[in-house]
Amino acid sequence: MNSFRDNSQNKKIVIAVDGFSSGGKSTFARLLAARLGYIFIDTGAMYRAVTLYGIEHGAIRNGVPDRERLVGMLGEIDITFRFNPARQASDIYVRGECVEEKIRGIEVSAAVSSVSSIPEVRRKLVAMQQQMGKDKGVVMDGRDIGTVVFPDAELKLFMTADPGVRARRRYEELRARGEDVSLEEIERNIRERDRADQEREVSPLRKAADAVVLDNSGMTLAQQMEWIEPILAERLGKA
Ligand code: C5P
Repeated sequence: MNSFRDNSQNKKIVIAVDGFSSGGKSTFARLLAARLGYIFIDTGAMYRAVTLYGIEHGAIRNGVPDRERLVGMLGEIDITFRFNPARQASDIYVRGECVEEKIRGIEVSAAVSSVSSIPEVRRKLVAMQQQMGKDKGVVMDGRDIGTVVFPDAELKLFMTADPGVRARRRYEELRARGEDVSLEEIERNIRERDRADQEREVSPLRKAADAVVLDNSGMTLAQQMEWIEPILAERLGKA
């Protein structure tokens, strides 16, 4: 059987990882990319970076974007990724400034769903994502990767977990970073983002018909990696 650690004979594929907020997509996708020697792209970070820029430049006030102003700024929001060996993952930069930490705060989280529902924002970021994945060999995580960005991806995963489990994970992550947040506040934000992501008109979050569902509520990361192994072997074998 083809081991996914030995994919030297296989062609590279595109792996789309979509799902709800704080469902462990990034952690899983990052590990998967490292195992395969693929590039990992966290598309949520890109929507967060646009949101942070809008907040810092007066185009988002009290969590509400001034749509016209923000769209007018899109040309100047230069987003790049640079590999950070300490994290074994890429950090996101806006106009040369590393914003990896800043984009994870609650202020950005509260406004990002409104920003990601703006068609011009999506158009710009989707085009960038397609460009980054054009040579394949990528694991991309987001909400619309398997449905819009790479509808022909060789492997599509849809990750989900119980909202309580997701809120607890996110709470522990933010507390560990010293943010003063309550579990209730996190839970509210996660439920609200789930709702907004599923109900928005442009590219709503939904499972692609051909996506494989992974509910990781009671699973460790090691168990998730074990779960994916036969699926990966099969898809890499076909490529
Ligand atoms: O993945 P993360 O929670 O960091 O994403 C932040 C937000 O960015 C999501 O709540 C969603 O509104 C938006 N997003 C999106 N499409 C993607 C990735 C993220 O709309 N592909």
